[in-house]
Amino acid sequence: MNMMTELKTDAQLVDQFGRSKRKLRISVTDRCNFKCVYCMPEHPEWMKKQDLLSFEELYQFCDFMVRRGIEYIRITGGEPLMRQGVVHFVAQLQQLKKLGLKRISMTSNAHYLKKYAFALKQAGLDDLNISLDSLDAHQFKQLTQKDLAPVLEGIRAAQAVNLPIKINCVLMNGINDDQILPLAYWSVQQKIMLRFIEFMPLDGDRKWSSEHVVSEQQILDRLSTKFVVTQQRSDAAQSTSEPARQYFIDGHPIGIISTITNSFCGTCDRVRLTAQGEFYNCLFAPQGLNLKTEIKALNSYEPLSELSLDAALSQYIWNKESGFHAIQQRLKNQPSRKISMHMIGG
Ligand code: SAM
Ligand code: SF4
Repeated sequence: MNMMTELKTDAQLVDQFGRSKRKLRISVTDRCNFKCVYCMPEHPEWMKKQDLLSFEELYQFCDFMVRRGIEYIRITGGEPLMRQGVVHFVAQLQQLKKLGLKRISMTSNAHYLKKYAFALKQAGLDDLNISLDSLDAHQFKQLTQKDLAPVLEGIRAAQAVNLPIKINCVLMNGINDDQILPLAYWSVQQKIMLRFIEFMPLDGDRKWSSEHVVSEQQILDRLSTKFVVTQQRSDAAQSTSEPARQYFIDGHPIGIISTITNSFCGTCDRVRLTAQGEFYNCLFAPQGLNLKTEIKALNSYEPLSELSLDAALSQYIWNKESGFHAIQQRLKNQPSRKISMHMIGG
Protein backbone atom coordinates (compact mmCIF):
# COMPACT_ATOMS: atom_id res chain seq x y z
CA MET A 1 0.00 0.00 0.00
CA ASN A 2 1.13 3.53 -0.76
CA MET A 3 2.98 5.18 2.16
CA MET A 4 0.83 8.26 1.63
CA THR A 5 -2.41 6.34 1.91
CA GLU A 6 -3.00 7.19 5.53
CA LEU A 7 -2.43 10.90 4.97
CA LYS A 8 -5.12 13.20 3.71
CA THR A 9 -3.60 15.99 1.65
CA ASP A 10 -4.60 19.64 1.69
CA ALA A 11 -4.60 19.76 -2.10
CA GLN A 12 -8.25 20.03 -3.11
CA LEU A 13 -9.77 19.81 -6.53
CA VAL A 14 -11.47 23.07 -7.37
CA ASP A 15 -12.17 24.92 -10.60
CA GLN A 16 -12.02 28.60 -11.53
CA PHE A 17 -15.73 29.00 -10.69
CA GLY A 18 -15.23 27.68 -7.15
CA ARG A 19 -16.86 24.30 -7.79
CA SER A 20 -15.11 21.65 -5.67
CA LYS A 21 -14.90 18.18 -7.14
CA ARG A 22 -16.51 15.48 -5.02
CA LYS A 23 -17.53 12.87 -7.58
CA LEU A 24 -15.30 10.74 -9.74
CA ARG A 25 -16.61 8.52 -12.52
CA ILE A 26 -14.36 5.76 -13.71
CA SER A 27 -15.14 4.10 -17.01
CA VAL A 28 -13.58 0.65 -16.70
CA THR A 29 -14.19 -0.37 -20.32
CA ASP A 30 -15.58 1.15 -23.51
CA ARG A 31 -16.94 -2.25 -24.59
CA CYS A 32 -20.62 -2.93 -24.43
CA ASN A 33 -22.98 -5.68 -25.48
CA PHE A 34 -25.69 -3.10 -26.26
CA LYS A 35 -25.77 -0.64 -29.11
CA CYS A 36 -28.00 2.11 -27.78
CA VAL A 37 -28.74 4.50 -30.63
CA TYR A 38 -28.05 7.56 -28.48
CA CYS A 39 -24.64 6.30 -27.37
CA MET A 40 -22.74 3.71 -29.37
CA PRO A 41 -21.41 4.31 -32.90
CA GLU A 42 -22.53 1.90 -35.60
CA HIS A 43 -18.93 0.67 -35.97
CA PRO A 44 -17.14 1.12 -32.66
CA GLU A 45 -13.35 0.88 -32.57
CA TRP A 46 -12.74 -0.66 -29.17
CA MET A 47 -9.81 0.40 -27.05
CA LYS A 48 -7.11 -2.28 -27.11
CA LYS A 49 -7.16 -4.40 -23.96
CA GLN A 50 -3.42 -3.81 -23.39
CA ASP A 51 -4.04 -0.04 -23.41
CA LEU A 52 -6.48 -0.16 -20.49
CA LEU A 53 -5.34 0.77 -17.01
CA SER A 54 -5.32 -2.24 -14.71
CA PHE A 55 -7.66 -2.32 -11.72
CA GLU A 56 -4.61 -1.90 -9.48
CA GLU A 57 -3.69 1.29 -11.35
CA LEU A 58 -7.27 2.53 -11.21
CA TYR A 59 -7.33 1.81 -7.49
CA GLN A 60 -4.16 3.83 -6.86
CA PHE A 61 -5.70 6.71 -8.80
CA CYS A 62 -8.90 6.49 -6.74
CA ASP A 63 -6.82 6.47 -3.54
CA PHE A 64 -5.01 9.61 -4.75
CA MET A 65 -8.29 11.32 -5.64
CA VAL A 66 -10.05 10.45 -2.38
CA ARG A 67 -7.16 12.05 -0.49
CA ARG A 68 -7.92 15.20 -2.51
CA GLY A 69 -11.58 15.38 -1.63
CA ILE A 70 -13.40 12.87 -3.82
CA GLU A 71 -16.29 11.40 -1.79
CA TYR A 72 -18.27 9.49 -4.42
CA ILE A 73 -16.96 7.05 -6.99
CA ARG A 74 -19.17 5.70 -9.77
CA ILE A 75 -18.00 2.79 -11.89
CA THR A 76 -19.29 2.96 -15.42
CA GLY A 77 -18.42 1.99 -18.99
CA GLY A 78 -19.21 0.88 -21.74
CA GLU A 79 -20.79 -1.86 -19.75
CA PRO A 80 -18.85 -2.23 -16.48
CA LEU A 81 -20.09 -5.77 -15.83
CA MET A 82 -18.29 -6.85 -19.01
CA ARG A 83 -14.88 -6.21 -17.48
CA GLN A 84 -13.59 -9.18 -15.52
CA GLY A 85 -12.54 -8.27 -12.00
CA VAL A 86 -14.98 -5.40 -11.53
CA VAL A 87 -16.64 -6.96 -8.47
CA HIS A 88 -13.24 -7.32 -6.80
CA PHE A 89 -12.54 -3.68 -7.67
CA VAL A 90 -15.73 -2.66 -5.84
CA ALA A 91 -14.59 -4.65 -2.80
CA GLN A 92 -11.10 -3.11 -2.93
CA LEU A 93 -12.51 0.42 -3.07
CA GLN A 94 -14.13 -0.18 0.34
CA GLN A 95 -10.68 0.46 1.87
CA LEU A 96 -10.97 4.08 0.76
CA LYS A 97 -13.99 4.66 2.99
CA LYS A 98 -11.64 5.20 5.92
CA LEU A 99 -10.07 8.07 3.94
CA GLY A 100 -13.35 9.86 3.30
CA LEU A 101 -14.99 7.98 0.42
CA LYS A 102 -18.73 7.92 1.15
CA ARG A 103 -20.29 5.88 -1.64
CA ILE A 104 -19.34 3.45 -4.35
CA SER A 105 -21.90 3.30 -7.14
CA MET A 106 -22.23 1.75 -10.57
CA THR A 107 -24.15 2.44 -13.77
CA SER A 108 -25.09 -0.64 -15.79
CA ASN A 109 -27.41 -1.79 -18.55
CA ALA A 110 -28.31 -4.70 -16.20
CA HIS A 111 -28.08 -7.38 -18.89
CA TYR A 112 -25.67 -9.41 -16.71
CA LEU A 113 -27.00 -8.20 -13.39
CA LYS A 114 -28.88 -11.36 -12.49
CA LYS A 115 -25.51 -13.11 -12.36
CA TYR A 116 -23.71 -10.35 -10.40
CA ALA A 117 -26.29 -8.71 -8.11
CA PHE A 118 -25.51 -10.81 -5.04
CA ALA A 119 -21.72 -10.53 -5.50
CA LEU A 120 -21.97 -6.74 -5.94
CA LYS A 121 -24.02 -6.44 -2.77
CA GLN A 122 -21.48 -8.61 -0.92
CA ALA A 123 -18.65 -6.47 -2.28
CA GLY A 124 -20.30 -3.43 -0.69
CA LEU A 125 -21.68 -1.61 -3.73
CA ASP A 126 -23.83 1.18 -2.29
CA ASP A 127 -26.17 1.73 -5.22
CA LEU A 128 -26.73 1.04 -8.87
CA ASN A 129 -28.19 3.10 -11.72
CA ILE A 130 -29.76 1.00 -14.44
CA SER A 131 -30.53 2.18 -17.96
CA LEU A 132 -34.01 1.26 -19.17
CA ASP A 133 -35.38 3.22 -22.09
CA SER A 134 -38.50 1.24 -22.91
CA LEU A 135 -40.85 -1.33 -21.42
CA ASP A 136 -41.93 -2.39 -24.89
CA ALA A 137 -39.81 -5.43 -25.83
CA HIS A 138 -39.87 -4.66 -29.56
CA GLN A 139 -38.94 -1.01 -29.07
CA PHE A 140 -36.26 -1.96 -26.52
CA LYS A 141 -34.63 -4.23 -29.10
CA GLN A 142 -34.73 -1.50 -31.73
CA LEU A 143 -33.06 0.90 -29.29
CA THR A 144 -30.37 -1.41 -27.90
CA GLN A 145 -30.15 -4.45 -30.22
CA LYS A 146 -30.69 -6.64 -27.15
CA ASP A 147 -33.62 -8.24 -25.30
CA LEU A 148 -35.56 -6.56 -22.53
CA ALA A 149 -36.16 -9.72 -20.46
CA PRO A 150 -32.63 -10.11 -18.98
CA VAL A 151 -32.71 -6.44 -17.91
CA LEU A 152 -35.99 -6.90 -16.04
CA GLU A 153 -34.57 -10.06 -14.45
CA GLY A 154 -31.47 -8.12 -13.45
CA ILE A 155 -33.64 -5.45 -11.82
CA ARG A 156 -35.54 -8.11 -9.87
CA ALA A 157 -32.24 -9.70 -8.78
CA ALA A 158 -30.98 -6.34 -7.47
CA GLN A 159 -34.25 -5.82 -5.58
CA ALA A 160 -34.00 -9.34 -4.13
CA VAL A 161 -30.60 -8.59 -2.56
CA ASN A 162 -31.68 -5.09 -1.43
CA LEU A 163 -29.29 -3.26 -3.70
CA PRO A 164 -30.62 0.31 -3.96
CA ILE A 165 -31.38 1.11 -7.60
CA LYS A 166 -32.47 4.00 -9.77
CA ILE A 167 -33.63 3.73 -13.37
CA ASN A 168 -32.24 6.07 -16.05
CA CYS A 169 -34.21 6.62 -19.24
CA VAL A 170 -32.85 8.71 -22.13
CA LEU A 171 -35.78 10.08 -24.12
CA MET A 172 -35.69 10.78 -27.84
CA ASN A 173 -38.45 12.58 -29.67
CA GLY A 174 -40.49 10.30 -31.91
CA ILE A 175 -38.49 7.26 -30.83
CA ASN A 176 -39.31 6.42 -27.20
CA ASP A 177 -41.13 9.49 -25.86
CA ASP A 178 -44.25 7.29 -25.78
CA GLN A 179 -42.59 5.56 -22.80
CA ILE A 180 -42.90 8.52 -20.41
CA LEU A 181 -46.20 7.38 -18.95
CA PRO A 182 -45.61 3.60 -19.00
CA LEU A 183 -42.26 4.00 -17.26
CA ALA A 184 -43.73 6.45 -14.76
CA TYR A 185 -46.57 4.05 -13.87
CA TRP A 186 -44.12 1.16 -13.64
CA SER A 187 -41.74 3.07 -11.34
CA VAL A 188 -44.61 3.98 -8.99
CA GLN A 189 -45.80 0.39 -8.93
CA GLN A 190 -42.27 -0.98 -8.40
CA LYS A 191 -41.40 1.77 -5.86
CA ILE A 192 -38.27 2.53 -7.88
CA MET A 193 -36.81 5.99 -8.46
CA LEU A 194 -36.96 6.88 -12.17
CA ARG A 195 -34.94 9.63 -13.84
CA PHE A 196 -35.57 10.87 -17.35
CA ILE A 197 -32.48 12.20 -19.12
CA GLU A 198 -32.49 14.70 -21.97
CA PHE A 199 -30.64 13.34 -25.00
CA MET A 200 -27.19 14.97 -25.13
CA PRO A 201 -24.90 15.48 -28.16
CA LEU A 202 -22.59 12.64 -27.13
CA ASP A 203 -23.83 9.87 -29.42
CA GLY A 204 -21.16 7.94 -31.26
CA ASP A 205 -22.31 8.79 -34.78
CA ARG A 206 -22.99 12.48 -34.16
CA LYS A 207 -26.60 12.33 -35.28
CA TRP A 208 -27.85 14.41 -32.36
CA SER A 209 -30.01 17.39 -33.14
CA SER A 210 -32.02 19.56 -30.79
CA GLU A 211 -35.18 18.25 -32.48
CA HIS A 212 -34.50 14.84 -30.94
CA VAL A 213 -34.48 16.24 -27.42
CA VAL A 214 -37.54 15.75 -25.23
CA SER A 215 -37.28 18.71 -22.89
CA GLU A 216 -37.87 18.78 -19.15
CA GLN A 217 -41.00 20.86 -19.77
CA GLN A 218 -42.36 18.40 -22.34
CA ILE A 219 -41.77 15.53 -19.89
CA LEU A 220 -43.56 17.42 -17.11
CA ASP A 221 -46.46 18.27 -19.43
CA ARG A 222 -46.88 14.61 -20.36
CA LEU A 223 -46.69 13.47 -16.73
CA SER A 224 -49.25 16.09 -15.73
CA THR A 225 -51.87 14.49 -17.97
CA LYS A 226 -52.06 11.49 -15.61
CA PHE A 227 -50.36 12.45 -12.32
CA VAL A 228 -50.38 15.28 -9.85
CA VAL A 229 -46.86 16.66 -10.39
CA THR A 230 -45.15 18.68 -7.67
CA GLN A 231 -41.60 19.98 -7.45
CA GLN A 232 -39.33 19.27 -4.52
CA ARG A 233 -38.93 22.30 -2.25
CA SER A 234 -35.87 24.28 -3.40
CA ASP A 235 -34.24 24.24 0.07
CA ALA A 236 -34.46 20.42 0.10
CA ALA A 237 -33.12 20.32 -3.47
CA GLN A 238 -30.13 22.46 -2.57
CA SER A 239 -29.05 20.08 0.15
CA THR A 240 -28.31 17.38 -2.42
CA SER A 241 -25.76 17.58 -5.23
CA GLU A 242 -27.95 15.49 -7.52
CA PRO A 243 -27.86 16.51 -11.19
CA ALA A 244 -31.54 15.63 -11.52
CA ARG A 245 -34.25 18.13 -10.73
CA GLN A 246 -36.55 16.35 -8.30
CA TYR A 247 -40.32 16.11 -8.67
CA PHE A 248 -43.11 13.97 -7.25
CA ILE A 249 -45.81 12.24 -9.30
CA ASP A 250 -48.76 11.44 -7.02
CA GLY A 251 -46.21 11.70 -4.18
CA HIS A 252 -43.68 9.29 -5.75
CA PRO A 253 -40.21 10.81 -6.40
CA ILE A 254 -39.01 11.20 -9.98
CA GLY A 255 -36.00 13.06 -11.43
CA ILE A 256 -35.23 14.86 -14.67
CA ILE A 257 -31.68 15.48 -15.86
CA SER A 258 -32.06 18.36 -18.25
CA THR A 259 -28.56 19.22 -19.40
CA ILE A 260 -29.84 20.81 -22.60
CA THR A 261 -32.81 22.93 -21.53
CA ASN A 262 -32.11 23.56 -17.84
CA SER A 263 -28.51 22.62 -17.16
CA PHE A 264 -27.12 21.92 -13.70
CA CYS A 265 -23.55 22.88 -14.74
CA GLY A 266 -23.42 25.71 -12.18
CA THR A 267 -23.03 23.23 -9.34
CA CYS A 268 -21.14 20.49 -11.18
CA ASP A 269 -18.88 18.54 -8.82
CA ARG A 270 -17.87 15.73 -11.22
CA VAL A 271 -14.74 14.61 -12.99
CA ARG A 272 -14.19 11.56 -15.17
CA LEU A 273 -11.53 9.07 -16.17
CA THR A 274 -11.69 6.80 -19.22
CA ALA A 275 -10.46 3.20 -19.14
CA GLN A 276 -7.19 4.18 -20.79
CA GLY A 277 -6.41 7.06 -18.48
CA GLU A 278 -7.85 10.09 -20.26
CA PHE A 279 -9.17 12.51 -17.65
CA TYR A 280 -12.12 14.86 -18.41
CA ASN A 281 -13.07 17.88 -16.32
CA CYS A 282 -16.47 17.97 -18.08
CA LEU A 283 -18.60 15.58 -20.14
CA PHE A 284 -18.40 18.10 -22.97
CA ALA A 285 -14.75 19.13 -22.54
CA PRO A 286 -13.24 19.46 -26.02
CA GLN A 287 -10.01 17.94 -24.79
CA GLY A 288 -9.15 15.40 -22.12
CA LEU A 289 -5.89 15.17 -20.22
CA ASN A 290 -3.89 12.01 -20.76
CA LEU A 291 -2.79 10.84 -17.30
CA LYS A 292 -1.77 7.31 -18.18
CA THR A 293 1.94 7.81 -17.56
CA GLU A 294 1.35 9.65 -14.28
CA ILE A 295 -1.10 6.99 -13.05
CA LYS A 296 1.29 4.17 -13.93
CA ALA A 297 4.09 6.01 -12.10
CA LEU A 298 1.81 6.36 -9.08
CA ASN A 299 1.18 2.64 -9.12
CA SER A 300 4.94 1.93 -9.23
CA TYR A 301 5.48 4.25 -6.24
CA GLU A 302 7.92 6.32 -8.26
CA PRO A 303 9.30 9.27 -6.31
CA LEU A 304 7.54 12.56 -7.05
CA SER A 305 4.76 10.77 -8.94
CA GLU A 306 2.12 12.35 -6.70
CA LEU A 307 3.62 15.79 -7.22
CA SER A 308 3.56 15.53 -10.99
CA LEU A 309 0.00 14.18 -10.98
CA ASP A 310 -1.07 16.97 -8.63
CA ALA A 311 0.45 19.59 -10.89
CA ALA A 312 -1.13 18.24 -14.07
CA LEU A 313 -4.53 17.68 -12.54
CA SER A 314 -5.03 20.81 -10.53
CA GLN A 315 -4.34 23.06 -13.49
CA TYR A 316 -6.63 21.11 -15.82
CA ILE A 317 -9.43 21.04 -13.26
CA TRP A 318 -8.96 24.74 -12.53
CA ASN A 319 -9.55 25.47 -16.23
CA LYS A 320 -12.89 23.65 -16.34
CA GLU A 321 -15.30 25.78 -18.35
CA SER A 322 -18.56 27.07 -16.92
CA GLY A 323 -20.62 24.39 -18.62
CA PHE A 324 -22.34 22.79 -21.59
CA HIS A 325 -23.76 25.96 -23.15
CA ALA A 326 -20.49 27.91 -22.91
CA ILE A 327 -18.61 25.06 -24.60
CA GLN A 328 -21.24 24.68 -27.34
CA GLN A 329 -21.13 28.40 -28.02
CA ARG A 330 -17.33 28.54 -28.17
CA LEU A 331 -17.00 25.50 -30.44
CA LYS A 332 -19.97 26.02 -32.70
CA ASN A 333 -17.96 26.26 -35.91
CA GLN A 334 -15.37 23.63 -35.05
CA PRO A 335 -15.48 19.92 -35.82
CA SER A 336 -16.82 17.90 -32.91
CA ARG A 337 -14.43 15.80 -30.84
CA LYS A 338 -14.16 12.04 -31.26
CA ILE A 339 -15.02 10.87 -27.73
CA SER A 340 -18.59 9.72 -27.16
CA MET A 341 -20.61 8.51 -24.21
CA HIS A 342 -19.57 4.85 -24.47
CA MET A 343 -15.96 5.89 -23.74
CA ILE A 344 -16.54 8.55 -21.11
CA GLY A 345 -19.27 6.70 -19.24
CA GLY A 346 -22.04 9.26 -18.69
N1 SAM B 1 -23.63 0.77 -20.02
C1 SAM B 1 -24.06 1.40 -18.84
C2 SAM B 1 -25.47 1.91 -18.97
O1 SAM B 1 -25.96 2.02 -20.08
O2 SAM B 1 -26.08 2.23 -17.96
C3 SAM B 1 -23.13 2.49 -18.36
C4 SAM B 1 -22.54 3.41 -19.38
S1 SAM B 1 -23.71 4.52 -20.15
C5 SAM B 1 -22.66 5.42 -21.25
C6 SAM B 1 -24.04 5.66 -18.82
C7 SAM B 1 -25.29 6.48 -18.95
O3 SAM B 1 -25.15 7.37 -20.04
C8 SAM B 1 -26.56 5.68 -19.20
O4 SAM B 1 -27.53 6.04 -18.25
C9 SAM B 1 -26.98 6.13 -20.58
O5 SAM B 1 -28.37 6.11 -20.72
C10 SAM B 1 -26.42 7.54 -20.64
N2 SAM B 1 -26.22 8.04 -22.00
C11 SAM B 1 -25.53 7.47 -23.00
N3 SAM B 1 -25.54 8.25 -24.11
C12 SAM B 1 -26.28 9.35 -23.79
C13 SAM B 1 -26.64 10.54 -24.50
N4 SAM B 1 -26.26 10.75 -25.76
N5 SAM B 1 -27.40 11.45 -23.86
C14 SAM B 1 -27.78 11.26 -22.58
N6 SAM B 1 -27.45 10.18 -21.85
C15 SAM B 1 -26.72 9.23 -22.45
FE1 SF4 C 1 -23.85 0.37 -23.84
FE2 SF4 C 1 -24.66 1.90 -21.86
FE3 SF4 C 1 -23.95 3.01 -24.21
FE4 SF4 C 1 -26.17 1.58 -24.06
S1 SF4 C 1 -25.74 3.51 -22.97
S2 SF4 C 1 -24.58 1.38 -25.65
S3 SF4 C 1 -25.68 0.04 -22.58
S4 SF4 C 1 -22.61 1.95 -22.82
